[in-house]
Amino acid sequence: MDNKAPTACLVSTGEEVLRGEILDANNNYLANILGEHGFDVQLMMTAGDRREDLYFVIDSALQRADYLFMSGGLGPTEDDLTTAVAAELANQTLVFDEASWQAIVDLFRQYNLEPGENNKKQAFFPASAEILTNHNGTAPGFSLTLERHGGKKTIIALPGPPRELHPMIQRWLADRGYRAIPETEHLFLRFLGIGESPLAEALEPWTREWGDVSFRQDFPEMEVKLYQPPLAMRAALGEFSASTLGGYLTTCTRQSVPELFTEFMQHQGETLAVAESCTGGLAAKIITDTPHASDYFLGGVVSYANPVKTALLGVSARDLERDGPITAATAEQMAAGARDRLGADLALSFTGIAGPDGGTDTNPVGTVWLGRADANGCTSKKLTLLQERDRIRTAAVYHGLHWLMEDWLRSRYTSQIAAWSGTARKRDK
Ligand code: ATP
Ligand code: MG
Repeated sequence: MDNKAPTACLVSTGEEVLRGEILDANNNYLANILGEHGFDVQLMMTAGDRREDLYFVIDSALQRADYLFMSGGLGPTEDDLTTAVAAELANQTLVFDEASWQAIVDLFRQYNLEPGENNKKQAFFPASAEILTNHNGTAPGFSLTLERHGGKKTIIALPGPPRELHPMIQRWLADRGYRAIPETEHLFLRFLGIGESPLAEALEPWTREWGDVSFRQDFPEMEVKLYQPPLAMRAALGEFSASTLGGYLTTCTRQSVPELFTEFMQHQGETLAVAESCTGGLAAKIITDTPHASDYFLGGVVSYANPVKTALLGVSARDLERDGPITAATAEQMAAGARDRLGADLALSFTGIAGPDGGTDTNPVGTVWLGRADANGCTSKKLTLLQERDRIRTAAVYHGLHWLMEDWLRSRYTSQIAAWSGTARKRDK
């Protein structure tokens, strides 16, 4: 059975993209949507408005892949050369399309304008091209199939402006019956507290047996993805990760720690308050970035200065004076104070040193104490985080949220993996 994924190359065009004056959003978008629809994207390139460069990238792309998706260069001006170069490669003449011209004229008239003579250029297409209507601008795209490098190749030429390109490629895919692979057909595993290289090293015994996984950093988390794995492979990676990386694994879904946390709190049916020193409100921000935070989040106190810790949260001034603010006791008192003053079931606190300076031997930059208070009392946990201020603060929040839901997460992924393994074994019988 030959159901190999169609191969694709991407070429964006335009001097402004080449010079780095605008970020190449088109190749990025195309890579994403084509990947989701089962294409194997092999290369992406950018050419400026020089004819020879355009010819070179188009021809190279056709040598490498079945499909070439291009963006830009379909406009009316001299530097818009995509159509001409594609026709030259296909050895075809350019043919005027009356319907496209009428659509351009109509669009101009909507704005009480008359198209210029140069706009006519946008109604010329390589003779055998299939025209792709542009509902959001003047430049139609086209799809052109040609014989080149010993095979049938297709160039899909799309307009440069993203708001014109997006609907056109979506329609192209839908019209040809390409369906988006649902996310659930892939396997996503998320990890917290481990970087890419130690993670890759830890997974090495598994990848040696089963093959590569792909890694994506989504700071401070790491995401591992398997593309449409068979159930046995899915179960095997789940089991391996849970047994060797259980301390870092958060979920076998694509959910981030804050998303998981919302689900956790909804499941608990409890309310939460926070008390923040070094995170300066970031915990409240991250918690409320996720929809439905109002189901459980009451609010927080940003107690950056010691007197505020004492006045608003009841942290002992004597303890602060004697031991400084970065201690287990301060973290616990902050949490207890927030829980009490905000009337929450559960409270979480952060006190630490995010840098860049102010670190000491006892409390180097990156030391953060988490405090937790609930009806049973207080506990605390020390984090030792790396890197710079921004990252220390973000990581502290993620670790804090993770700390509160660790047990729930473990049982959640354990039963998920057990279900996969069970079904995989049954199928084997
Ligand atoms: P037009 O009819 O507007 O000239 P076109 O198909 O000729 O369309 P270009 O001239 O290459 O496209 O680009 C038009 C505009 O589209 C650019 O000025 C830019 O704003 C946007 N654009 C083009 N290419 C990209 C890209 N790769 N990423 C993001 N935006 C882009
Ligand atoms: Mg243009």
